[in-house]
Amino acid sequence: MIKKAVPEMAVATSVTGLPGIAPYQTKKNEAYMSEGLQAHFRLILEETKRQIMEGSDNTVEALRGDDKELADPADKATREEIIGLMLRASDRESKLLRKIEEALQRLDNEDYGYCESCGEEIGVRRLEARPTATLCIDCKTLDEIREKQQGSN
Ligand SMILES: [Zn+2]
Repeated sequence: MIKKAVPEMAVATSVTGLPGIAPYQTKKNEAYMSEGLQAHFRLILEETKRQIMEGSDNTVEALRGDDKELADPADKATREEIIGLMLRASDRESKLLRKIEEALQRLDNEDYGYCESCGEEIGVRRLEARPTATLCIDCKTLDEIREKQQGSN
């Protein structure tokens, strides 16, 4: 990966975790999920997707890796462990990719940014931290409490 020099400001304010994408500065009287905001989140989602894809290329590359027999059984065990970890990671990645695709779909349908449960605005800052969120913080919290209760029964 080519390391690009990122302006200091962008790094300092990157809540998105993506270098070069700074938090959106909402303009005065700007409507929630204005065209500008939609474009902002589309960029975040596309960029996250691109990063995952780059990562999975590396995984495939490593799995293909050296096919020659490893003489040392310890090396072989380590390699199998690494492959196991990578497969689990790529499972997480493909789940995330699916969520990103769904989020992009919601953007196309102009449903993006609204809570699936109560219909309220999820909020720009929450979405920047978690661009695939489908619940507002209140519903998410309730959801987690319910899950915990079910878990303890
Ligand atoms: Zn909600």
